[in-house]
Amino acid sequence: MKIDVLTIFPEFFGQVFDFGIIRRAKGAGLVSINVHDIREFATDKHKMTDDRPFGGGDGMVMKAEPIFLAIEQLLGTTEREKYPPGTKVILLSPQGRPLKQLVAQELADDAEHIIMICGRYEGVDERVNDALVTDEISIGDYVMSGGEPAAIVLTDAIVRLLPEALGSETSAENDSFSNGLLDCPHYTRPADFRGMSVPEVLLNGNHAEIEKWRHEKALEKTKRLRPDLLTGENGDT
Ligand code: SAH
Repeated sequence: MKIDVLTIFPEFFGQVFDFGIIRRAKGAGLVSINVHDIREFATDKHKMTDDRPFGGGDGMVMKAEPIFLAIEQLLGTTEREKYPPGTKVILLSPQGRPLKQLVAQELADDAEHIIMICGRYEGVDERVNDALVTDEISIGDYVMSGGEPAAIVLTDAIVRLLPEALGSETSAENDSFSNGLLDCPHYTRPADFRGMSVPEVLLNGNHAEIEKWRHEKALEKTKRLRPDLLTGENGDT
């Protein structure tokens, strides 16, 4: 998989993709991640990437042209129908489809090349959305000052689901949301810590009993913390 991030603040990403599972996935050649400065695609002499909104009002709007030029360079076209198969051009936006595990799983399964556009200010000229974007995605019902944290969240959620990214010792199948439940509680040594002991069942080596206990606890936690996951009110988990 190839991920390209378009931003006016490339330094924001620093070493953020150089740790843990994402670092390992990059090292194993499962994904390559490149961050591009939208300013490099600005054509005027001041390299402007934003301008005042038509119709007046506060704030600035990110210009369409530099983003069109960036997409043209990355994909060879700005016509959505001509994007190579497996291409997703994602606009991070509070107005988009809410990010859920299922959305990340779909992208991990189907996408080969993902371009993420990070907005700033009041947002991005709507013609970017109309012409270029295949998916508008939100990381939650709150407004941040830029799409960069959202691009990091989305990249992490997708990359750890790529086949082999987690390595053989772990798997995502018991993670929260994967099977409609939250994950079960986890414990490690010591068995007794400051008078708090680990549930006995985890120490007896009976794997069938341990599995049963884990399922019960996952269900119990889900009922208590996220009943919406059980009633289906949550939409696509
Ligand atoms: N005026 C816009 C918000 C602009 S916030 C509105 O009310 O809809 C500036 C940028 O931050 C957005 O363009 C988007 O890229 C990013 N952003 C803010 N909140 C986000 C969220 N919940 N999910 C994804 N991106 C978000």
